[in-house]
Amino acid sequence: MNNDIERVLYSQEEINHRADELAAAITEEYHDQNPLVISVLTGAMIFTSDMLKRLNFKLNVDLVDVSSYDGTDSTGQVKLDLDLKSDVKGRSVIIMEDIIDTGRTLKYLVQLLKDRGAKSVAVCALLDKPGRREVSIEGDYVGFTTPNEFLVGYGLDYNNLYRNLPYVGVLKRSVYAN
Ligand code: 5GP
Ligand code: MG
Ligand code: MG
Repeated sequence: MNNDIERVLYSQEEINHRADELAAAITEEYHDQNPLVISVLTGAMIFTSDMLKRLNFKLNVDLVDVSSYDGTDSTGQVKLDLDLKSDVKGRSVIIMEDIIDTGRTLKYLVQLLKDRGAKSVAVCALLDKPGRREVSIEGDYVGFTTPNEFLVGYGLDYNNLYRNLPYVGVLKRSVYAN
């Protein structure tokens, strides 16, 4: 599995350190708001888990699964595969995401939660590829700003593989080019 990685971008140690910083910032803002933390499956699972262990105040957790379909007409469409169990009305919501790429997924989710009456919606993403953005959305808490390369590990997959790598790395082109 490690042989398929071109290079490591962010080691477990670097991610831990950055998670400490992000958690401190989120704690300062949300410690008395009883926020609802929403993890976007499946990619954000590991990052969410690491963040939750650092958020030592009253909060709730829920899950959502969203997939984006790029139709032949190239207009990216987003679909809700698994809905929340929680009512978000009046809640302070923090979305945990693995990576912001075109921004379509998050744009859709943020709008959905606002439409359902969330008091506020913040985005916390481990990774951000601003060079690939197609719709305007920014993360409120971002771990690392990355180059436009295909990344795997730490939750991020290629064909549902590599999620369990304990670091974020660049996948060798030979893996997906053949
Ligand atoms: P967006 O809607 O912002 O284009 O897409 C975000 C989703 O696309 C992420 O949650 C992730 O599932 C997937 N994605 C975007 N860039 C990458 C990448 O470099 N590697 C992997 N594994 N998934 C990515
Ligand atoms: Mg995703
Ligand atoms: Mg999915």
